[in-house]
Amino acid sequence: MANDASTVFDLVILGGGSGGYAAALRAAQLGLDVALIEKNKLGGTCLHQGCIPTKALLHAGEIADQARESEQFGVRATFEGIDIAAVHKYKDDVISGLYKGLQSLVASRKVTYIEGEGRLSSPTSIDVNGQRIEGRHIVLATGSVPRSLPGLTIDGNRIISSDHALVLDRVPQSAIILGGGVIGVEFASAWKSFGTDVTIVEGLPHLVPVEDENSSKLLERAFRKRGIKFNLGTFFQGAEYTDNGVRVTLADGKTFEAEVLLVAIGRGPVSQNLGYEEQGVAMDRGYVLVDEYMRTNVPTISAVGDLVPTLQLAHVGFAEGILVAERVAGLKPVPIDYDGVPRVTYCHPEVASMGISEAKAKEVYGADKVVTLKYNLAGNGKSKILKTAGEVKLVQVRDGAVVGVHMVGDRMGEQVGEAQLIYNWEALPSEVAQLIHAHPTQSEALGEAHMALAGKPLHSHD
Ligand SMILES: Cc1cc2nc3c(=O)[nH]c(=O)nc-3n(C[C@H](O)[C@H](O)[C@H](O)COP(=O)(O)OP(=O)(O)OC[C@H]3O[C@@H](n4cnc5c(N)ncnc54)[C@H](O)[C@@H]3O)c2cc1C
Repeated sequence: MANDASTVFDLVILGGGSGGYAAALRAAQLGLDVALIEKNKLGGTCLHQGCIPTKALLHAGEIADQARESEQFGVRATFEGIDIAAVHKYKDDVISGLYKGLQSLVASRKVTYIEGEGRLSSPTSIDVNGQRIEGRHIVLATGSVPRSLPGLTIDGNRIISSDHALVLDRVPQSAIILGGGVIGVEFASAWKSFGTDVTIVEGLPHLVPVEDENSSKLLERAFRKRGIKFNLGTFFQGAEYTDNGVRVTLADGKTFEAEVLLVAIGRGPVSQNLGYEEQGVAMDRGYVLVDEYMRTNVPTISAVGDLVPTLQLAHVGFAEGILVAERVAGLKPVPIDYDGVPRVTYCHPEVASMGISEAKAKEVYGADKVVTLKYNLAGNGKSKILKTAGEVKLVQVRDGAVVGVHMVGDRMGEQVGEAQLIYNWEALPSEVAQLIHAHPTQSEALGEAHMALAGKPLHSHD
């Protein structure tokens, strides 16, 4: 598709991250003329500063741990240290391979890719590189960036965000991580594996506070065992430089010192000075507001991904982008059930969940209508072989479907696919109990938990 001034695209997308490029690929597949505008790198946060690089660091950390712990398995190996330049090379090779693949995918679907910083100039156009790109429909997908707190300046050296942490040219001797959410605990895990002395500071009473409390407690126990320190339930008050690093003070006066402070308190939407307000797009604290079909209040404009106040996950961005593309192409997509989105935190051990927590289920259905069951991974052969501890916890509506699956343990993130089918197909425990799980796999833990909930436990006590 030629990109000349007279072209009116079917869809013009601002931002080429998970949300934006998924919309572009699906729309092009459905025969729409699509323009995708990106100021930085196609793939956005997920590919370049998020999901992929963090998981590469975590995998390098896992290998370091395995080398240290190899004797437990009868293997003689020695851990000699982390070559951080080589870790970055490994991580960057993974990214660049995926980046090339994505670029060729976008080109092969005949999406018009425009490099430049765009601005919404009317309900049907984006201005970029001095040119006006017109579209029948606009998708805003400008994503998010790391947040800080008032008075806490991220200098990129001693006080850093996840963007800096991913390219740090050294393994810090010690680190304070402000925020015990997903990003905070993943860095805590990777850095501990690399040899850093880590302390997490979380104002809420638990690590990964949006998870079922049981998962938080299991993770806390595992982190304690690994020597990852954390201070819960007291909020941050201030940070100052010391001779060699940073000192953090909490609201109760307690102080912590370390070489670096990683600020991992969440991410805020990228929406300032982009013309959104001028064109009448309704917003709340910088987030673009949308309905269940990702429509803003302006009929020709949709928004997806981290820019809207839904779960900040790459696969949510993909799903929202696909939904918009299908709607604009005239299909009838169904709204997303956000409880039905799988969530995985890739620390060691992993935390994975589907559906709702026990607390939420009690709110929704009433305490007397909620049944829970915990299956300990100690009874699961494969987990024993891996020497990982953890649990599968099920939340069921009495005599009804399983509405929550909460798992902790190494590699348990890989089980979230089955948990997703169980939740989204509203399976009864007795139905899942009928399914045969391969032995010895960790998937058996899910099967056994359902067998127990259906009243016919095999490898667990009645
Ligand atoms: C450290 C970290 C780890 C993460 N790990 C995971 C994980 O394991 N799993 C998971 O599902 N999610 C993870 N996430 C979240 C995931 O990365 C985001 O949810 C996802 O990238 C959001 O996609 P998006 O398209 O909304 O925004 P983004 O990926 O941020 O993309 C927005 C794009 O818009 C571009 N842009 C912005 N303004 C303009 C403009 N004016 N003109 C042109 N282009 C513009 C930006 O350059 C960017 O490329 C992680 C995030 C971080 C930070």
